[in-house]
Formats: sequence, structure tokens, C-alpha cells
Amino acid sequence: MINIGVLEVQGAFLEHKISLVRAARELNDVIVNVTEIRNPSHITDDLHGIIIPGGESTAISLFLKRNEMEEPLRSWVKGNGHVTWGTCAGMILLAKETEHQKNGGQVSLMCMDTIVSRNYFGRQINSFEADLTITDSDLISKPGCISDLFHGVFIRAPAILKTTSDDVKVLATLQRGDNSTVIVAAKQGNQLCTSFHPELTEDTRWHRYFIQMVLKSSNSINI
Ligand code: GLN
Repeated sequence: MINIGVLEVQGAFLEHKISLVRAARELNDVIVNVTEIRNPSHITDDLHGIIIPGGESTAISLFLKRNEMEEPLRSWVKGNGHVTWGTCAGMILLAKETEHQKNGGQVSLMCMDTIVSRNYFGRQINSFEADLTITDSDLISKPGCISDLFHGVFIRAPAILKTTSDDVKVLATLQRGDNSTVIVAAKQGNQLCTSFHPELTEDTRWHRYFIQMVLKSSNSINI
């Protein structure tokens, strides 16, 4: 059994929990115990994975500071074998740098070698849905689906402007109107980030991928 904690501050944490349960069922034999993270006592070494959902990164950051969760969460994320997934605002919190701002005022978990633009696609009104291109073959295979596309829901979404280390693997890109592409999902070691919201779709490929990251990591440290 693997234990996954979901940070429950704002955003679609309930949908993440539902998607995790569905993904685990599809993976046969994987038992996932999903718990809430609302205070520092919920961040324990019993957890194998943590999801930091979307929302508003400044508000989440303030919540973490006020509830003295910033340091416990940061050390957990950096802990041996711990797997973390940040969606949207979670991607911003995991980045070592955000555009125009070197960690100024806002909590950053300082984990991923990425430079993230917080509102890359514009304001809330510019939110959209679009097919993105998955570039990692592990994510492409799903029963009944051999597509390298994923229907992404982008809500005042961030994007990765730049990766600053070769350890960061790009997992998905989105084509822009001018034919350029922008990075919308990446992985570095045990950290995964997506600028869109897979929990708001029926497609569980990203949740399965995350569970598989957790399983791999848990096996390697013999839990
Ligand atoms: N762009 C938002 C921020 O700055 C994140 C939006 C989201 O999580 N849906 O925090």
C-alpha cells in the first residue's frame, strides 16, 4: 500500500483524490491510501507521495507560512525517496525561480531547476482547453489509447520558460499560435509538475504516472 497526501488548501484537491483512486484501480493491485494535508502534523514520513494542487500560489504560500508548514513541506519534498507532484500553482511552488522574481516574498520549495512564468497564458479570462503533446512514451500507453496527445485544462496557467539543468526531463509541450512550443510538464528526479489540471479530466494517465513514480521510488528504498 502506498500513502499519498494531498495538500488541501484550495483548488481541485477532491478531484485529485478521486483521480488517484481511479488510477490505482486501473493499475490493478495497487492500493492507494489518500490522506489530507492541512497542518504540519499531516506531513509525515509515512507518506510516499504528496500532491500540491492548483489554486493561487500566493494564497497557498501565505497559508503555508501562517500554518508553519513551509519548512516541514520543503524538507519532506527533499527527503529521500519522497515523490511530489505540483499541478499549476504547485508547479510554481516547486520552481527554483519564477519570472521577474527570485523567490521574493512567496514561498518556494526550491526543488526543480525551472524558471516558471506564473501567468504565462494571461489572466483568468484567458483560461482555455487544448490538446498538448506528450513527449514521454511511458505516458502515451493507456488501454485503448495510443495517442501522444492529452486534453489539457489550463486555468490562469503557468508555463516553464526555461529548464536550468539537464536533470529536468520535459514530458509535455503545447504548441502556440506562432508555431513555437512551450513546456507544460516536466520531471526532475522525484518531482513532477504540470501546468494544466489532469484531475479535471477523465484521462488518468498523469495520475497513473505519478503512482508509478511513487511505486518505483518506494521499491528502491524498500518500503
Ligand atoms: N497562475 C496562478 C498562480 O499564480 C496559478 C493558477 C492555477 O493554479 N490554476 O498561482
